[in-house]
Order: sequence, then structure tokens, then C-alpha cells
Amino acid sequence: MKGMKTTMNITNKHIPQRTCVACRRVKTKRQLIRLVALPGGGIEVDTLSRKVGRGAYMCSTFQCWQIGLVAGRLEYALRTNLTQENREQLILFSKKFGKELISG
Ligand SMILES: [Zn+2]
Repeated sequence: MKGMKTTMNITNKHIPQRTCVACRRVKTKRQLIRLVALPGGGIEVDTLSRKVGRGAYMCSTFQCWQIGLVAGRLEYALRTNLTQENREQLILFSKKFGKELISG
């Protein structure tokens, strides 16, 4: 065996990071909202991060949800299709946090 350097000490706290599918910014999971593709089609907000399935993350900003939902980024990321009803539900959800968190 050659002297492999395997003694790297990882002292940094590992903070899980995810990429927003809309703006492509990398953020910690806490700053993002998880969405999952449902087995029968459609997309649901996974507020507890517990649902099984293909997931995607978006910032909790109205802007990112507009990009994700209206421009279809979310559907592309989750390889699924949104029904009109589903899309409206999610847009409605995004309006709740919309106006407060526009900075950043
Ligand atoms: Zn974003």
C-alpha cells in the first residue's frame, strides 16, 4: 500500500445544502421548501420533509415559485406534470410567504 492520505479531519459541521430549482442558489435545507412528486402525478409541498419520493427544493420566495411553477422548472426537476389545479394550489401557497422575503 502506498501512503494514502486518509487522515483528513473534517471539523466543519456538515450542514446539508440544496439547490433551489428556480434561481439555482445553494442554500441550507432550512432556507428552502421541499416539494415532492406524488406517485399518482402532481406536486405537493412537503413542509415536514418526510414524504417519500422525488424531491426538489425552492426558496421561500414568491419570485422563485413563479419561476418554478410558471416557467416549468419545478416540473422539469421532478420529471412530472402539474395540472392547472395543482399549479394554482402551489401558487396560492407561495403567496403566503411572498411579499415579506423578497430581499436576498
Ligand atoms: Zn430560489
